Amino acid sequence: MNHNLAKTSILLIEDEENIRSFISTALKNTNYKITTAKGGNDGLHLSASLCPDLILLDLGLPDLDGMEVIRKLRSWSSIPVIVISARTNEHEKARALDLGADDYITKPFGTVELLARIRTSLRHSHQMQDMASTEPAPYHYKELTIHFENHVVTLSEENIHLTQIEYKLLTLLAKNSGKVLTYTYLMEKIWGPYTDNNNQILRVNMANIRRKIEKNPAAPEYVFTEIGIGYRMAEGD
Ligand code: CA
Repeated sequence: MNHNLAKTSILLIEDEENIRSFISTALKNTNYKITTAKGGNDGLHLSASLCPDLILLDLGLPDLDGMEVIRKLRSWSSIPVIVISARTNEHEKARALDLGADDYITKPFGTVELLARIRTSLRHSHQMQDMASTEPAPYHYKELTIHFENHVVTLSEENIHLTQIEYKLLTLLAKNSGKVLTYTYLMEKIWGPYTDNNNQILRVNMANIRRKIEKNPAAPEYVFTEIGIGYRMAEGD
């Protein structure tokens, strides 16, 4: 039994009884310590008193909208938040991410997907804690390697030439691999806060990156489009 896993605590904020019990069972079987809250206010209190390692948050809560929970939580805490939502509205998912949620999962979902998302978010939050001074390890997945320390990108050991913007975009995605980054976030990080919100320049750059790294840009292996939300890069190994 893995001791670190046994100590990882997760707070689930969800008003629907059946989803609460499904998730609780799945997480207990995986040896996470799970606490549940039925509403947003309770959830915020428990976040402060328990300081969980991760929060699973339903957006449609009876007392306080999930968006409000994220906003309040982010005023004092960086605990990773995965939004669980029945809403299929891309704008809302993007808004939750822009408010500071780390990821989202859409109902209905299976245990395997849920556990994978939790592991990814926990790994990112640990990396953030370690990363303060050191350069991250190279990104590697399938044939693609990115050496952050000397700005070298290789595909099957051949050097890939990227423009500065393309390199910035690809490394931002790679350093957050497994996580979806919204169009707004990417635009602001690469082109600054005063850029207009037309994503054309982002899409053009992404198309160029894909032509250089993907065998078939229409069926990408490395950078995936989350329609209406943003891009997610395959988790490095
Ligand atoms: Ca709900």
